[in-house]
Amino acid sequence: ILKVENLYKSFDKKEILKDIDFSIEKGQVVALLGPSGSGKSTLLRCLNGLENIDSGSIFFEGENVDLKEKTWEKLRPEIGMVFQSYDLFPNKTVLENLLIGPVKVQKRNKSDVERNALKWLERVGLKDKSDSYPNQLSGGQKQRVAIVRSLCMEPKLMLFDEVTASLDPEMVKEVLELILELAKTDKTLLIVTHEMSFAHKVSDRVIFMADGEIIESSSTSKFFKNPKTQRAQDFLQSLD
Ligand code: ATP
Ligand code: MG
Repeated sequence: ILKVENLYKSFDKKEILKDIDFSIEKGQVVALLGPSGSGKSTLLRCLNGLENIDSGSIFFEGENVDLKEKTWEKLRPEIGMVFQSYDLFPNKTVLENLLIGPVKVQKRNKSDVERNALKWLERVGLKDKSDSYPNQLSGGQKQRVAIVRSLCMEPKLMLFDEVTASLDPEMVKEVLELILELAKTDKTLLIVTHEMSFAHKVSDRVIFMADGEIIESSSTSKFFKNPKTQRAQDFLQSLD
């Protein structure tokens, strides 16, 4: 569904992403791991058109994305992204937050979208919060709403960037469980996380980055049992 070839990206003449090459098949769950500053967030932002790339190609569903803003506007609903900060609209209720994208941007039928949104809220145990405002929710609840908001756009690929990083420990679990549940469906996910046991459980494949390069790409079980490179071994050991 996604293929990246020879992607380079620099900030102020400093190369941040170097010769990035990988692909993700439909239905796969891929964990993007690596030390802080290795370029994981920058890479996700490039895949969503939030950053320009210097060179290289991105193919989405077999088509070469021409990297113009107009194209990204069309693609963004198909490539959902959830960040560390949930940035819900504070003056809109939970349900209104869920409807904006699909109804205003995608011009889909409001009652269909609403039915789907309520179904998702029920699945994540937040149906009784549909008329609440974001500031009436806990961090974990807000982050689950943010994930549901992305799901309501029916993206073909979802990018998660450390979605639990700003949560209190007791709220991390409920968010990770939601993502684990999504991973069991046919969703295609690319997940940046520092939670290694979660990465181990949720993903089919690991892409390991360091200093802006992909150092290792292998099946999850191989990566955790038997990392090929010294860099990955050191990384995993540093977390024990
Ligand atoms: P973390 O695990 O801490 O989130 P990361 O792997 O997501 O790290 P990035 O945020 O992608 O790393 O940053 C990679 C490098 O790019 C860092 O050296 C960072 O300082 C630099 N960088 C990121 N965004 C910018 C920017 N807008 N301008 C200049 N440099 C940037
Ligand atoms: Mg990051």
